[in-house]
Amino acid sequence: MANIAFIGLGNMGGPMAANLVKAGHKVTGFDLVTASREAAAAEGVAIAATAADCVKGAAVVITMLPAGKHVVGVWTEILTSVAPGALMIDCSTIDVASARQAHALAAKAGFAAVDAPVSGGVGGAKAATLTFMAGGDDKAFAAAKPVLEAMGKKIVHCGEAGAGQAAKICNNMILGISMIGVSEAFALAEKLGLSHQALFDVASTSSGQCWSLTSYCPVPGPVPTSPANNDYKPGFAAALMLKDLRLSQEAAKAAGAATPLGAHAEAIYAAFEQAGHGGVDFSGIINHLRALAGSR
Ligand code: NAD
Repeated sequence: MANIAFIGLGNMGGPMAANLVKAGHKVTGFDLVTASREAAAAEGVAIAATAADCVKGAAVVITMLPAGKHVVGVWTEILTSVAPGALMIDCSTIDVASARQAHALAAKAGFAAVDAPVSGGVGGAKAATLTFMAGGDDKAFAAAKPVLEAMGKKIVHCGEAGAGQAAKICNNMILGISMIGVSEAFALAEKLGLSHQALFDVASTSSGQCWSLTSYCPVPGPVPTSPANNDYKPGFAAALMLKDLRLSQEAAKAAGAATPLGAHAEAIYAAFEQAGHGGVDFSGIINHLRALAGSR
């Protein structure tokens, strides 16, 4: 079992660090927010006074932070305090350029690194059933895998530095687009007098079948576990979907890829957030589409 440093003990990082403790690792954590530090301490995480103190003597350093600037900032701050031979893992969802910058910082300081963003949300973080999408060389990935297995169920090596982030934003661009597509179909069905259940029964076994329909249906009824049955409480908040769509569009621009539906999905979620619904589950976008029809 390893000495692990964990920086960023928020909604995701808190339960992930707790699962590392449950797996028998000695975990030392740090977060800027007192409540996050206290919650992690209650789960058996030793709390350090600073990020630099947190990483001293750790064999593995994990960060789970809001955005690329935080990851690059924290890695710059801590790398001089990290013990020789330690492995750096970033699990945050960040832009590909910052992920590659963090890899370069680690390499310059002599450390192996892996970008390993997750899907599965807070529920997956608590249940240790996250999917990790990892980028880094074979040796770094092999070292990271057993640690990630204590927090997740599926660990996929996607390629070299930044490939984990690339996989994450491509997946979530599909998700954002497909959720709008499924929601538009239900909104149209309502206008045509077709019941939710009838559309679900047909589309879920036809070529319209997709995860946004069969696992996360945006209308109440057909999939009892979907947030639509719980007043669209997240789940996966629309603001986080917007963040990931923005990352996908930044990457598309930088790489020269044409993603017109991704761009349109970003604009639709941005309007939803501007209307004050950033905290609503992203499947609540169906209500935005219904409102658009009303305003025509
Ligand atoms: P969060 O805001 O709850 O947690 C982030 C934590 O980082 C906060 O507690 C904050 O205080 C801490 N932090 C920020 N700067 C810091 C610093 N310099 N030093 C130490 N701590 C610092 O966010 P979250 O929901 O836990 O998400 C974390 C990452 O995971 C994000 O990149 C997010 O996009 C990604 N993600 C979230 C979900 C989800 O459903 N919440 C799902 C998949 C991926």
